[in-house]
Amino acid sequence: MTITDETTTAEHSDYTHQRPIPREDLVPDLNHVNAFTTDKVASQVIDTFAPWARDRAATLGGQVWDPRVLKNARDAQRYTPELRTLNRIGDEVYDIEFHPAYHELMALGFGSGAHSLAWTAEQPGAHSARAVLSYLWNQIDGSTACPIGMAYASIPVLRSQPELAEFARALEAEGYDSADVPIQHKSAATIGYFMTEKHGGSDLRANVTVARPVGKRGPGEKYLVNGHKWFASVPMSDCYLTVAQTEGGVSCLLIPRRLPDGRLNNLKINRLKDKLGNKANASSEIEYHDAEAFLVGEEGKGVRTILSSAEYTRLDFAVGSAGLMRAALSQALHYNDTRSAFGAKLSQLPIQAPVLADLALEWAGAAHLGFRVARAEDSRDDVSERLVSRLLTPVAKFWNCRRVSSVTEEVIQSIGGNAYIEEHPCPRYYREAPLNAIWEGTSNMMVMDVGRVLTREPKAIEPVLDEIRPAAAEHPLLAAALDEIDELVMAPEQTTRYLVTKLAVTTQAALLVEHAPTAVSDAFIASRLGTGWGPGYGTLRGVDFESIIDFGRLG
Ligand SMILES: Cc1cc2nc3c(=O)[nH]c(=O)nc-3n(C[C@H](O)[C@H](O)[C@H](O)COP(=O)(O)OP(=O)(O)OC[C@H]3O[C@@H](n4cnc5c(N)ncnc54)[C@H](O)[C@@H]3O)c2cc1C
Repeated sequence: MTITDETTTAEHSDYTHQRPIPREDLVPDLNHVNAFTTDKVASQVIDTFAPWARDRAATLGGQVWDPRVLKNARDAQRYTPELRTLNRIGDEVYDIEFHPAYHELMALGFGSGAHSLAWTAEQPGAHSARAVLSYLWNQIDGSTACPIGMAYASIPVLRSQPELAEFARALEAEGYDSADVPIQHKSAATIGYFMTEKHGGSDLRANVTVARPVGKRGPGEKYLVNGHKWFASVPMSDCYLTVAQTEGGVSCLLIPRRLPDGRLNNLKINRLKDKLGNKANASSEIEYHDAEAFLVGEEGKGVRTILSSAEYTRLDFAVGSAGLMRAALSQALHYNDTRSAFGAKLSQLPIQAPVLADLALEWAGAAHLGFRVARAEDSRDDVSERLVSRLLTPVAKFWNCRRVSSVTEEVIQSIGGNAYIEEHPCPRYYREAPLNAIWEGTSNMMVMDVGRVLTREPKAIEPVLDEIRPAAAEHPLLAAALDEIDELVMAPEQTTRYLVTKLAVTTQAALLVEHAPTAVSDAFIASRLGTGWGPGYGTLRGVDFESIIDFGRLG
């Protein structure tokens, strides 16, 4: 039979004993809405700081809720990558086989410029524009967001080493080339970051992998690497940045997967990890056996080199977590605005409206915070913006990546049982959410980093506080929070999660006062900095729920 919009479930179901149900009470999939043009925060960022990127953002925004893209995102997670160590005749190949959906996602993501626009656009606001693309991409898929973020972060590192120019060029290219051939023969490339070893990922100085020069030692020279890496995502990338001990100390090296003559470099992939989420992304355990590499930067400066690019991956995960919140919120509002219970739309019910408004506040704060850090990257020649970037990058990575898990959990609650079922995107969001708070530095590492900044560059706090002061003049709760921060930063060696949380929330509040409707900023300040609200979502009281929910709506 033909199913039409008017058909009732009883008519198109085999369960003929069911009583007919009006179709308007069943919530269809969220499809065919442009995630960029309907997003008030992302649109404002592009219109204000990078209007030249509007068409590009609108094109990617049109893909987010496209049914084919959604199916690819689901299939790529469901049919997980497999490692093939040997080919038919017994040669070691260490190939990863993916479902075609993964390759389609990679082609779409890398074709959008989300990995390189910041470095190639030569336009004002290029980091802001790229951040919006990444935010949109993270609404589609977190597994491919990993290689996209790593490519973004690696380009300045590779550009800084002239011998690696062809790697930088291939990574900048917009497009995806999955051929497993030397980078010299590729139209576009991907890169992995292999740092974590069995005994720990936070303390890179404890790495036991070693590298020795083939001839001359020094930047750009050839080395041979021996050792292991316990977490190595995207192992079929064309090259990997890694860290290893040299005579000069912990150093950064670039390892091509294939050598110029076509041979596979001397490394083995032992197995793929069976993970909680992020399942379409192959994460492996690998060994180097005299793997050929190029030294990047000076010997002994490896941690500094890696951390210089971690600034970008951390920004990317802060923005990506805001994107994941946005995707989850969009699902929550779509469902709650469509479905009725007890005679009203769910979003109008007096106990549900505060939940949805609270989730919208969390997303709005996270999105503004992430985009603010991206904006600081756009003005790195300005000393105070450089300090803003240095301090707020770990703050935003800490806070956005922590809050996204609670948002995805509450969104599932707000939709109910239908969001617990694998056909719905929410289980994917829920499993993805905790990861951003682990890789590229755990939450505690971000707190330590904030402490490091406040100790070594105490002036970094000033431009951040200066930006909050005008809003604090109008909002006593914000002024009181600033006083507390002033006191806490006097002892930077005692930096705690409490201080970093305060920095995050006060910065978000000031950004909302400047850029969002008053109903949103007032409710954010009252609930995040005042008393009289509980620790969970939905305990807001006495605020304009409908205006806040409306700010979060697609449209
Ligand atoms: C899916 C996935 C993919 C990954 N992909 C990659 C990859 O491609 N490349 C790569 O290099 N790594 C990768 N990682 C590893 C990731 O970067 C590490 O897990 C992370 O850096 C933390 O290291 P660890 O797990 O060894 O924890 P540890 O360093 O052992 O830390 C454990 C806990 O102790 C805390 N801790 C440690 N030191 C301190 C301290 N001084 N003070 C307070 N608390 C402290 C940490 O915050 C954490 O909570 C991946 C991880 C996952 C889950």
